[in-house]
Amino acid sequence: MYSINSLHSLGNFANNFSNTDTMPVLFLGHGSPMNAIEENEFVSGFRNISKSIPKPAAILCISAHWFTHGTKVTAMQMPRTIHDFGGFPQALFEVEYPAKGSPELATMTQEILKPTHVELDDKWGLDHGAWTVIMHLYPKADIPVVQLSIDYTKPAAYHYELAKQLSSLRKKGVLIIGSGNIIHNLGLVDFKNMDKDNYGYDWAIESRQKINQWLLDGNFEPIIHFEKQGAAIQLAVPTPDHYLPLIYVLGLKEKSEQLSLFNDKLLAGSLSMTSVKIAYRA
Ligand code: ZN
Repeated sequence: MYSINSLHSLGNFANNFSNTDTMPVLFLGHGSPMNAIEENEFVSGFRNISKSIPKPAAILCISAHWFTHGTKVTAMQMPRTIHDFGGFPQALFEVEYPAKGSPELATMTQEILKPTHVELDDKWGLDHGAWTVIMHLYPKADIPVVQLSIDYTKPAAYHYELAKQLSSLRKKGVLIIGSGNIIHNLGLVDFKNMDKDNYGYDWAIESRQKINQWLLDGNFEPIIHFEKQGAAIQLAVPTPDHYLPLIYVLGLKEKSEQLSLFNDKLLAGSLSMTSVKIAYRA
């Protein structure tokens, strides 16, 4: 069924996604799902960044919270808002983000990632890694959003290379967003100091300094091979789920593009909200 549709969709694609200047790429540190309904400096940072870039035709989001065996892309017309968390106030469960999907973008993504097999998915939707941040960039929910899953059987170097195949989407007005957290050790969160400004344990301070320097130097090799960078970074990245969305974003950086940081703060000891913008103009 999808093969017949895909020809049709590809025919429409040029109409829906016209050639544009190269869209920037963003990595967003999403932090707590409560950012969806709270007012804080990070939410302001998300709002400000959307004002600094052209309005996209569609968004392709790689979220830490869609970790699958193999690679999938959401292909439904209307993705549901997934409340994939527990123990939060009812108000958070009542938030809906009614952005449309884009079967056309899903099919295009499937085509350009060949020979990697990408499954067109009709079950997922928008998980909180996507909607809790995208809602601050585009509160009217007037931009279609598609999610691409992360194949958990593959190492960072694989994801870095796979991301490069997505680059042509940037010239079609597609904003590619990775959503995770560079430093993310939930087991060590200091709940007594959630509100302390820019507060990190020593190993988190060290990890932030090192990774930020590599990012700003364009030295991505140690970032890709994070397992070999010592004890501090092992504590910062105990599991790859929240880190790999950054790897996709870095894979998309062209040599002459600039990389800048925003929301660059530590939080609750063992998290960072550091976010990244890659664009030809800062
Ligand atoms: Zn998360």
